[in-house]
Amino acid sequence: MSSEKPQAVLREDYCPPDYWIDSADLSFDLGEEETQVRARLEIFRREDLIGDSPPLILVGEELECLEVRLDGEVLPAHRYRVADDELRIDSPPERFQLETRVRIKPHENTALSGLYRTSGNFCTQCEAMGFRRITYFLDRPDVMARFSTTITADKASCPVMLSNGNRVEAEDLGGGRHRVRWEDPFPKPSYLFALVAGDLRAHRGSFKTSGGREVALEIWVEPQNIDKCEHALASLQRAMAWDERVFGLEYDLDIYMIVAVNDFNMGAMENKGLNVFNSKYVLALPSTATDADYEGIERVIGHEYFHNWTGNRVTCRDWFQLTLKEGLTVFRDQQFGADMSSAAVTRIEDVKILRAAQFAEDSGPMSHPIRPDSYISMDNFYTSTVYNKGAEVIRMYHTLLGAEGFRRGMDLYFERHDGAAVTCDDFRDAMATAGERDLSQFGRWYSQAGTPLVEAEGSFDSEAGCYSLTLKQSFPEPDQSATREIPRQALHIPVAMGLLNSSGEDLTVRLEGESAPGETQTRVLELTQSQQTFIFTGLSQAPIPSLLRGFSAPVRFKMERSREELAFLMGRDSDSFSRWDAGQQLALDLLLDLAKTSARGEAMALDPLYAEAFGRILADPSLDGSLKALALTLPSEKVLGQEMEVVDPDALFAAREFMRKALAQTHCDALREIYSRGVERAIDENEQDAIHQRRLKNCALAYWMTLGGEDALEAAATQLERAENMTDTEAALVVLADTVSEARDRGLSDCYDRWSEDPLLLDKWFAIQAGSRRPDTFERVLELADHPAFSLKNPNRMRSLVGTFCSANPVHFNRADGAGYRFLADMVIQLDSMNPQAAARMVSIFNPWRRFDSGRKALLKQEIERVGGQHGLSKDVFEIVTRALADQSD
Ligand SMILES: [Zn+2]
Repeated sequence: MSSEKPQAVLREDYCPPDYWIDSADLSFDLGEEETQVRARLEIFRREDLIGDSPPLILVGEELECLEVRLDGEVLPAHRYRVADDELRIDSPPERFQLETRVRIKPHENTALSGLYRTSGNFCTQCEAMGFRRITYFLDRPDVMARFSTTITADKASCPVMLSNGNRVEAEDLGGGRHRVRWEDPFPKPSYLFALVAGDLRAHRGSFKTSGGREVALEIWVEPQNIDKCEHALASLQRAMAWDERVFGLEYDLDIYMIVAVNDFNMGAMENKGLNVFNSKYVLALPSTATDADYEGIERVIGHEYFHNWTGNRVTCRDWFQLTLKEGLTVFRDQQFGADMSSAAVTRIEDVKILRAAQFAEDSGPMSHPIRPDSYISMDNFYTSTVYNKGAEVIRMYHTLLGAEGFRRGMDLYFERHDGAAVTCDDFRDAMATAGERDLSQFGRWYSQAGTPLVEAEGSFDSEAGCYSLTLKQSFPEPDQSATREIPRQALHIPVAMGLLNSSGEDLTVRLEGESAPGETQTRVLELTQSQQTFIFTGLSQAPIPSLLRGFSAPVRFKMERSREELAFLMGRDSDSFSRWDAGQQLALDLLLDLAKTSARGEAMALDPLYAEAFGRILADPSLDGSLKALALTLPSEKVLGQEMEVVDPDALFAAREFMRKALAQTHCDALREIYSRGVERAIDENEQDAIHQRRLKNCALAYWMTLGGEDALEAAATQLERAENMTDTEAALVVLADTVSEARDRGLSDCYDRWSEDPLLLDKWFAIQAGSRRPDTFERVLELADHPAFSLKNPNRMRSLVGTFCSANPVHFNRADGAGYRFLADMVIQLDSMNPQAAARMVSIFNPWRRFDSGRKALLKQEIERVGGQHGLSKDVFEIVTRALADQSD
């Protein structure tokens, strides 16, 4: 470890700032070699400090301070101090104007935080703490100021100059320079500031709000991408209409701009009126983007738009409250996605993400509550826990209060807090008041880390006609986030459930003490104690319970059930989520058994019960193609690994490969037939049906390919050649990339030639090879890391190779010789010197290291320590590595 240890910031240390900033008038002079920023800030002391005059401390990183003025007068050097990333002024007046001038170097900024260059253009990213890399400021979300921005630059290189709010002035300065001025009428924290300048083109549209405001919509992209924006624009229009319809929320400025950039650390950023997006979430044509890409774009466009209210109009008091805006906005984009396509498919996909990423995070060294208690680098807390588990917590309010109660809670939240920076408790209080519910116990979801386990046990009393269901909650894993010993307490957990009869029909559910059965067949039980029993009456036969319908709480759920019962639910449950989940549970049990068999070196065999259920799904006319494809897909090795005491990547790989192949053998004819039907029917269908069809067809192709026959190989090669959309192209290339064949070599080389001018397609080209099951994948990955088109500087490209291989290819990454681990450590060390945020994300792939066998554990530890021992390690990577290596309390 390096000698200076970065310090943690604690939630309990929050106090309001000594000074507030009323308005910030910024002026940028953009140049090739340097940029000068002048900031004129109207500052006043906190009201309750009148009489007392604490120093003003503004933060700033990598700034060269050129001049400081106070109320117009140049401040002599002894009146202020610039040191340790801050500008300090002792005893300033109660109210004053501070003007600073600084020099920054955007072209040298590889961290992609603050103001930087991408593809020759200027662009900013300020969340969470990037604004301090632009100018000295009170860079914290509770300081909300009115911003105006003047930008001066060369007309030739920067014909377009954008910032937040409305454009109020434009002027030609002569000599090839020009200037614009933007004013944002809404006070906002500095993390929502944005500036973009460069050679860009706009794809334009408009939206008329229900209140009659005509809003200009502009999607700004590099000139060659101007034909790829229609889907993003249409998604934005749908999102605006949806937010009005569902939440009564209208847009509040005359213009809404989205800019697509190639170099971006995240998905997208909701800066007021000027969103900046990773181009991956904007650009799409059927020939360049898959169905999943299209859906991803719609969701992310919606997400950033929804932030205009949940995040911008009402923002976070401090960064510990991040889930206030992110959990809520992810929930909103999930609901939007469900309404735009298929609610069942959307729900299953969202839960898959939660289980693969968040459950893993919650059982490792980075486990934290959705509202963390401490951080060293806030950038490390843009996590699946804050986002995805945070969204599940919001969903539970929705489940407990109902759609109408939730809407009343949202209305009250805006009525109380519009224009303010607030906390998660403020949100919970609005929900409790509007819903007339006591949600104090529910508040524990914000403070307790770890995934709760809910166990269910049922018994039927045939004489009384009663079914009793006992639910228990516990935390089987130690709380790795706790800095002190606080025993975790029972949570308030909504468990949606129903009862089925032996033919699979829903029974009307009546709880003991109720005079009549409930109106709906799905009921929500509220588990608030560590153990509770619910008694259902009026039953003539033993029911089959369907529990945690729609995944009503972010918990691990266990019930002792026979495989027959799981197969029954997999074939019949009326709740599509639970139906899918029963199938996953069954497959998971079987795969874990097979992995044990494989590890013992014994012969594996396919369970006939599962094979039969698989066949029923193939033949079921009531399921659409997307649901079928989801049901037919076995749990990933990552999800399976979470269920093993000691993860055995080789055995899991062998078991899963065996089962895929055995299922394909058993249902070979049906799969081939589905594939050919899919190829024939691809044309004349509506969009949603075509998507379902493609998903099912490509799922069938993947199974068929496991048999290794020439016919399947030829089908895949033909599909790659003839595909008219990227979904089919990519699916064919993915299955070919697993093979040792001439078709694979030709396919990859043809695609490279066709795709080499399009960065997003090249990302796919790298990712497909990094994810391959071929035995020589690691060697190929090393070659690709030296490929001229590879670069660690571009986050998308870096993730497509390093991220895909290390996090989505467990069998090859976890080679027993540790070469995969060495590769990741090498990449992290290189990356950390240019982009600490991205490096920290990559190094956290090591987090589950303690779950492996002793041989791998030793190799992993060695590589983590090697990263930790680097000179000049960033605090981002320092924090992850320190937590990973920390002694475990138990
Ligand atoms: Zn967000």
